Amino acid sequence: MATQAHRCTCFIIPPSMLRKLADTATSQADRCLLLDQCETSAYLRGQRSISPVATGVAAVGEKRRTVYDANHKTTLPGKLMRTEGGVAVADAAVNQAYDGAGITYDFYREVLKRNSIDNKGLRIDSTVHYQNKFNNAFWNGQQMVYGDGDGKLFLGFTGALDVIAHELTHGVTQHAVPGGLIYENQSGALNESISDVFGSIIKQWKLKQNVEQADWLIGAGILAPSVGKALRSMADPGNKELTWSGDDQPKTMAGYVEGGDVHTNSGIPNHAFYAAAIALKGNSWDKAGPVWYKALGLLTPNASFADMAKATSQAAVLLYGADSPEQHAVQAAWKVVGVV
Ligand SMILES: [Zn+2]
Repeated sequence: MATQAHRCTCFIIPPSMLRKLADTATSQADRCLLLDQCETSAYLRGQRSISPVATGVAAVGEKRRTVYDANHKTTLPGKLMRTEGGVAVADAAVNQAYDGAGITYDFYREVLKRNSIDNKGLRIDSTVHYQNKFNNAFWNGQQMVYGDGDGKLFLGFTGALDVIAHELTHGVTQHAVPGGLIYENQSGALNESISDVFGSIIKQWKLKQNVEQADWLIGAGILAPSVGKALRSMADPGNKELTWSGDDQPKTMAGYVEGGDVHTNSGIPNHAFYAAAIALKGNSWDKAGPVWYKALGLLTPNASFADMAKATSQAAVLLYGADSPEQHAVQAAWKVVGVV
């Protein structure tokens, strides 16, 4: 038996970023490579966006990871390099993908009582060394895929836990939101934001950082210093000093970009989460994270920012009671960003 669910081929690096970097590339070869990858991304993203999701067939598993090597080609999944419990191999990217998937699995299991991406112990497959100098990482609806980066602008993607957790969370969203979240307009920006939210929480959880200690950056460490420090800031979306020169994220609805990329408008719900987490104090995974997670089950595929505001408020009531300080903090956070 299978149901239909909206899934995305979701990239960590938006095409607009690749295009902006192509504009300022110092050589024709670099420019061509970036534009070429922009087209590859558009092609993969345009592929069938609805896929059957098997329901209730596979035996419930525990943590099961496999990592493959595409050997710089585009055939997936590639050559099997490491399976669950296997010893570390010589290839650092294989081990990083394995470890990052494991930490993400452990977080969902221990903190949110979720058994893998589908809550049924789905095996987490990852492929490293996709294509040549590929400046991106993505979830294709079924597995994780990592490029190596060109070494000039992008330093690699498997080293950043928040990037791994961001991408795997696209899989969680696909299963946890009834019918999935359509990857365009506000529902698409929400889809992106949910991945940033849990990407950041999982990094904070691993580093044992409370909301004051966290840097709230997404993708710190994957960019060459000449490009910038990070992809996005949840504390201050659009702050180019904290991120990079092309950061175009709005922080509130006053800056909402009509028809904007899902990675652009996601700044607004990202900042709402940040505001809620700061107000709730302590660790982001103690209260704010569980509220956002519970809200996923209350959304529909076309959910807007206002729907997410309502869902998180309802989730806070379910977890902490009506009129609780938690519910008030969540509602106030959506006021900060002008959604309600
Ligand atoms: Zn994403």
